[in-house]
Amino acid sequence: MNLYLAVAMLSQPVILVLLLLSFVFAMYAQYKVSSAYNKNVRIPSRGRISGREAAEAVMARAGIHNVEITETSGHLTDHYDPIHRRLVLSSENYRGTSLAALGVAAHEAGHAIQHKIGYSMLKTRMALVPITQISSQLLPFVILGGFFFRMSGLIDIGIICYAVLTLFHFVTLPVEFDASKRARAELVGLGIIDRDEMPGVSQTLNAAALTYVAAFLSSLLNLLWLISARRN
Ligand SMILES: [Zn+2]
Repeated sequence: MNLYLAVAMLSQPVILVLLLLSFVFAMYAQYKVSSAYNKNVRIPSRGRISGREAAEAVMARAGIHNVEITETSGHLTDHYDPIHRRLVLSSENYRGTSLAALGVAAHEAGHAIQHKIGYSMLKTRMALVPITQISSQLLPFVILGGFFFRMSGLIDIGIICYAVLTLFHFVTLPVEFDASKRARAELVGLGIIDRDEMPGVSQTLNAAALTYVAAFLSSLLNLLWLISARRN
């Protein structure tokens, strides 16, 4: 109810402008990720340790021995798969010894550590995955149908879907920030990179974090816009 009141105070044009700004911000975040990654993937680390070796070392120090590290094709396709306990690195980061490769590999290992210690935000995020998938699949039909046939019931379902997405992107923020924090600490702690190499790692990880903030803002503003449209 409070949310509805807060939205009522924001007029629709204001929300539309904010929505547009969030779109620009998302494009900026995407640009930052590409430029930070492309710059730091060309800077080899002094230790010459590969992304795979770094992920292995970070996980070994945390006592994780049951996570498989695999190589995959594609650009920035790196992720940690908690269901199959698999740490997937793109070839560039799996084999590469760059500051970007080490940052990404250690970040994914950070997720494996979160999984092992039962980090509450990761558990919440994992629990939200099924309902988030359903919501994002439903959304296009619900929104189109709702506005086309002027069915407020469909708009209400759209609001619920966006609320789920917004919650998911919100919970993702601490999960991602925490994994990057762990990555930085582990890379230096294990002596994989020197302190003066850290800016290159941080630049890559911070740019990636921006995209998660952009995703959260965008789903929040879509939610607000839909609520304000429903009122009218
Ligand atoms: Zn991550």
